[in-house]
Amino acid sequence: MVSRHVPELLKRQLMTEAGYRCAVPTCRGAAALEFEHIEEWCKVKEHRFEDMIVLCATCHARVTRKEISKGSIRTYKQNLAIISGRYSLYEMRALELFHSHLSQFASDSLPLLQLPRTDYLHVKGLEQDGLVKITQSSGSSVRINGLAVEPWLMQLTPNGKEFITSYFGGKELRS
Ligand SMILES: [Zn+2]
Repeated sequence: MVSRHVPELLKRQLMTEAGYRCAVPTCRGAAALEFEHIEEWCKVKEHRFEDMIVLCATCHARVTRKEISKGSIRTYKQNLAIISGRYSLYEMRALELFHSHLSQFASDSLPLLQLPRTDYLHVKGLEQDGLVKITQSSGSSVRINGLAVEPWLMQLTPNGKEFITSYFGGKELRS
């Protein structure tokens, strides 16, 4: 008989996988996190990394009410594995910001963010994967801590747009 209690090591592994946030891409809340068995506990009666995921209490309740399907949860789990190893929290925040701006843009245009040149290194992973394009702005410089800094521009690429539409839409990502 296996205890319902989730072992501490497994909890840490699941938290690391999820970046200490809810695994639902449109939520990513950090409060009231819980460990969910993707298959019902009464069926599986074991704690396995592959079959578990971190969800916030709100999303957990939505899964229980079947507003979020098990299939979606499996896809979120797969996507976490791709995303948490590849992009930093900074990069994920940038993608979130792009995603929240996307609806305000015409379908054929791509959102643009200004960033201080010194932040360039933080988003290099996105650039290397072709999700964003970074160019030096020809516009006027901004002052940060009294220093004139040339703003750089980070623009979502068509690939980047496809990526965030899939990811935040809970569709499977191609690894
Ligand atoms: Zn959530």
